[in-house]
Amino acid sequence: MDKIKTTYILVIILSVIVSVIYLKQDNSGELELIFHNQDILPLKIDEFNTECKKIFIYECNRLAFYPDLTIDVEFRKDVGGDIRGMVYGDSTLVNKMTLYIDSSFSKEKLFGVFAHELGHMLHFSWINSSGGTMISCFDEGFASWLAGKFYLKWQKKPDFRTLDTPTDQDNYVNLEFISTFKQLSSKKRDVMYYQWACFIEYLISEFSLQYVYNFFSYLITRGVEEQILAKSLQKSMQGALLAEGKDPIDKYRTQEDIEKSMEDLQKKVAQYRQKSKKLRSEIFNTACIEIFKKDFSELKNNWLDTIAI
Ligand SMILES: [Zn+2]
Repeated sequence: MDKIKTTYILVIILSVIVSVIYLKQDNSGELELIFHNQDILPLKIDEFNTECKKIFIYECNRLAFYPDLTIDVEFRKDVGGDIRGMVYGDSTLVNKMTLYIDSSFSKEKLFGVFAHELGHMLHFSWINSSGGTMISCFDEGFASWLAGKFYLKWQKKPDFRTLDTPTDQDNYVNLEFISTFKQLSSKKRDVMYYQWACFIEYLISEFSLQYVYNFFSYLITRGVEEQILAKSLQKSMQGALLAEGKDPIDKYRTQEDIEKSMEDLQKKVAQYRQKSKKLRSEIFNTACIEIFKKDFSELKNNWLDTIAI
């Protein structure tokens, strides 16, 4: 009897050890938040911290990806810009987050915004790129998708499968391709982000998360061409600064020379913008065909067919 009892206890101890090891392997990501200016947050910092950790675990599970993250979180008063939050860092690591507190503060909004911004950080870490895919609509859509139930609660949407009616102009923005959506009002921007998140959900359910990962990887690898363009522009700007007389060698240059070089620079900036836009569109469409075997408009039409508008 004693032997059976000992074996029984041993089995229990062993299963506890196995489950601890299993859980640790499968869910080992840790989040550390360092707060700045938390006095302006109308919420106890411990409550905020606890909820943020829940959001982190939720998003890691959604992505089946468990990194360790240390984030500097700064609270700031929104002075009417209606910026909800932003993330930034240097060229290798995005590890800083600013959350704006305005008069329309609510817990749903605060946690929805945090979940979206954390979504950006997990996205960047997942695809190993501190600049995202360089296709802003996709980066914003993915961060919103990753924020999942916290984003939906804030935006008062039931799921990522239900679009608002296209006839209601206030609540519908066409799914544009590399659009200028950042210039939209914040209300329309929310609608736009939500629609891109719906599109991401469609891609994942129709193809798989791995396909979406491959798609992002393709965009990043090919986006290098654009970074080269950006670097050459930077060089031109440095050249123009030298021409302004910042360099003693150039101090005898005439005003005419300086104006000419500034004109050249303006032309280069315009050319760069045009080239960059064209390049991004090309990369984007090639990626759609390579990975999903359909171009963007076909993907979009198939998505709209599957969704109840
Ligand atoms: Zn964002």
